[in-house]
Amino acid sequence: MNQTATVQRPVSPRPAASETGDPLLLTPGPLTTSASVKRAMLHDYGSRDHHFIDINRRMLERLVAIVNGQGSHVAVPMQGSGTFVVEAMLGCFVPPDGKLLLCINGAYGKRMAKICDYHRRAHVILEFAENEPVNPQAVATALANDTDITHVAVVHTETTSGILNPLEDIAAVVENAGRGLLIDAMSAFGAIPLDASKIRFDAACASSNKCLEGTPGMGFCIAREEALEKTKGNSPALSLDLYDQWQAMLANGQWRFTPPTHVILAFDQALDEFDLEGGVAGRGGRYRANCEVLVSGMRELGFRTLLPDELQAPNIITFHMPADERFVFEHFYDLMREQGYVIYPGKLTVADSFRMGCIGRLDQEDMHGALAAVRHALETLGISGTVS
Ligand SMILES: *Cc1c(COP(=O)(O)O)cnc(C)c1O
Repeated sequence: MNQTATVQRPVSPRPAASETGDPLLLTPGPLTTSASVKRAMLHDYGSRDHHFIDINRRMLERLVAIVNGQGSHVAVPMQGSGTFVVEAMLGCFVPPDGKLLLCINGAYGKRMAKICDYHRRAHVILEFAENEPVNPQAVATALANDTDITHVAVVHTETTSGILNPLEDIAAVVENAGRGLLIDAMSAFGAIPLDASKIRFDAACASSNKCLEGTPGMGFCIAREEALEKTKGNSPALSLDLYDQWQAMLANGQWRFTPPTHVILAFDQALDEFDLEGGVAGRGGRYRANCEVLVSGMRELGFRTLLPDELQAPNIITFHMPADERFVFEHFYDLMREQGYVIYPGKLTVADSFRMGCIGRLDQEDMHGALAAVRHALETLGISGTVS
């Protein structure tokens, strides 16, 4: 029998699964968490329990330490998804008579504009295309031209595209102009350095379930204490009042309203695992390795990334939708899901696209597995070799 003449049928790779048998989430969040993080939630705590209060204190101290903010900055937690703490940050730090310059290059920047509309905070928008970083020089010009502007808000890595904004340069411009900087660091915090001793900011916020790999359900705001002190009475909403939450926790170590106890227990464990991995350098290193494997493998299969490598943050990668009419995204998505990989539709206005994330409890093996699944999905769609 002539072996080489045998037609090779595509063999489905072994379905992927997390430690608990769930599909792997190659998404911008919620993300795959470790089994130990999930197991940490198997306890009920009363909010006044001393052990629970200790866990909270430790959690907030560790969050400040991640940005080297000991002595100058404090962390204030906020119940809810990431957007809740972004909304709390904008509402508290921009006073009712303040004015915000919003640097926008994606959906999360636009969401901040919507928040300002809700709370009737005066704002001006400096907008860039989704595949263009925020230009610090343009920020400088906008600030020079409008002395009413009190604060500037920017998204560290715009998860819409995966683009990395030049935060250090923007912060320098804002500091020179004597205004306050507010950062949505949601999809960067813990993986991309944010050093409060080098970058001046009034507030930066993130959540339990992105690069810190806890479960979703709480956000936190890291604030320069001097700036936070001035926010008393600014908040347009009781439940989102960071100043009040801060003062209450200073007084008795407790959250004002029911704390997400299980999420906090999981977060405490996630922070242990973050430290074990080597903090920001270790976590960011794993994500960069994941990103490189995924990008180079996808390029070999003919896919094109939206962003050049120097603008790509190692968290989520946007791929152009292939032109090949056999490539139907919904079908491709289902084929990936069947093999245990959940990917994400695009959110761009500049191009038809889809996204694959490389954050959460995922490693290079998982990325290779995802690439094998992509190859198999393409074959099933009748596309052999590369897609175009
Ligand atoms: C995830 C994310 C948020 C928050 O989104 P939620 O769905 O409310 O958790 C905000 N900003 C950025 C840049 C994000 O990536």
